[in-house]
Amino acid sequence: MIRVGIGYDVHQLKSGRKLILGGAEIPHDKGLDGHSDADALMHAVCDAVLGAIGCGDIGQFFPNTDPRWKGAPSRVFLEEAARQVKSRGATISNVDATIIAQEPKLMPFAAAMKSNIASALGVNTSQIGIKATTNELLGFVGRGEGIAAMAVAAVDVP
Ligand code: MG
Repeated sequence: MIRVGIGYDVHQLKSGRKLILGGAEIPHDKGLDGHSDADALMHAVCDAVLGAIGCGDIGQFFPNTDPRWKGAPSRVFLEEAARQVKSRGATISNVDATIIAQEPKLMPFAAAMKSNIASALGVNTSQIGIKATTNELLGFVGRGEGIAAMAVAAVDVP
C-alpha cells in the first residue's frame, strides 16, 4: 500500500550562520538558525518520510534539547528516517519538496540537494524532486526573516 506523508519546517535567517539547505552550503550573508545545522529542507523531508509510516516527527527522534544534536548535520536525521522505513520492510517511492525563500537563488544548488537527500535516504536522485520559489516579497519569508520548506513522501508499505 502506498502511504503519503507531509512535512513542513521553517527556520530564522541570522547573521553568522552558514546557510545549509538539502545538505548544500549556499553562499549568502545569513544562514538558518537552529540547534542542528537548521537545514529546513532536510527537516521537512524527514517529517514527510516519518509521517508516511505514522512514526511521529523529527522532534521525537531528535529533541532539540539533546546536546548530541547540537550542530548536527541533518543528514543523520534522514538516515534515521530511512532506517525506520526499512525496519518496516517498506520502501520510499518518491519525495517531492519545495523551498520557499526570497533569496538567494537556490535552483543552481538543486542538483546537489537532490543528490545529498537521495544518498541519505538510500534512493535514486530520480525519486527526489526539489523546487524553489520566492514568497513574492510577502510575509516573513518575503522580508528575508526566514526560509520555509515543505515536502511530501510516498512510501510503499507491505
Ligand atoms: Mg527544523
